[in-house]
Amino acid sequence: MKSLLISDLHLDASRPAITRQFLDFLVSDAADAAALYILGDLFEVWLGDDDPDPDKRRVVDALARLTAAGTTGYVMHGNRDFLIGERFCHETGFRLLAEGSVVDLHGARVLLTHGDLLCTDDSGYQRLRRRLRHPLSLWAFRHMGLATRRRLAERLRAGSRMHVGSTSPEIMDVNEGAVAQAFRDGGVTLLVHGHTHRPAVHRLGVDGRPVQRIVLGDWYTQGSVLEWRADGFDLRSLPR
Ligand code: MN
Repeated sequence: MKSLLISDLHLDASRPAITRQFLDFLVSDAADAAALYILGDLFEVWLGDDDPDPDKRRVVDALARLTAAGTTGYVMHGNRDFLIGERFCHETGFRLLAEGSVVDLHGARVLLTHGDLLCTDDSGYQRLRRRLRHPLSLWAFRHMGLATRRRLAERLRAGSRMHVGSTSPEIMDVNEGAVAQAFRDGGVTLLVHGHTHRPAVHRLGVDGRPVQRIVLGDWYTQGSVLEWRADGFDLRSLPR
C-alpha cells in the first residue's frame, strides 16, 4: 500500500505538456495508490468551481475517475487555487484538506501544509495573502461574475511576477523559526509542503529532536512525487 503526495503543478492551458503528464500519472502511478494528496497549486489559477473552461473540466473528470476507481483524494488550497470549493469536491470526489492538517500516512503522523505560511520573511506576500483570504474577500469573489474574477486574477498574476522579480530568493524561502514552530504546534517530526519549488529532504533538529522537512517540487520541467509506504518514503521526479 502506498500514498502519493504532489503539489505545484500549476496546470494551465499554456503548458499542455504538464496536463498531459498529470493525466498519465492519474492512470498509472496514482491508480494503485490508497490515497493521493494534492498540497496546493494544482492549478495556475482557479477562478471558482463555476468556471466552464474545458481544460479544467478535463482535469476534474480525470480526478473523478480516480476516486471512482477507489483511490482516496485529498486537495489542499494553494495560493493560486484557494477558490476550490464544495462543488469541485462533489464533482471530483476529493476532500478538502485544511491547511496544517496532521494525517496518518501508513502509521506515520505527518503535518501537511501548502508552505506559503512558512515564508514569513516575505512580509509583502503575507500581507497580500491575509487580504485575499479574508472571509469578506472570499465572499466578494464568490459573488463576482466570472469575467471580473478573470480580470482580477490577471492583475494578481502580473503583481506576483513583479514581486518575484524584485524579491531575493532567500526572502521567498521558508523561515527557520516558522518551520520550528510548525513542528512544535503540530507535535510531529515529519512535515511535507510545496510552494517554494525546492524539492529536498531536510533533516533538522527542533528542541533537540530530529525532524524531517520534505519539500515537494513543481511540475514545470518534470513531475515531482513523494511516495509514502509503511516502511518509509521516497521523493522522486517523474521524467518528461
Ligand atoms: Mn504556492
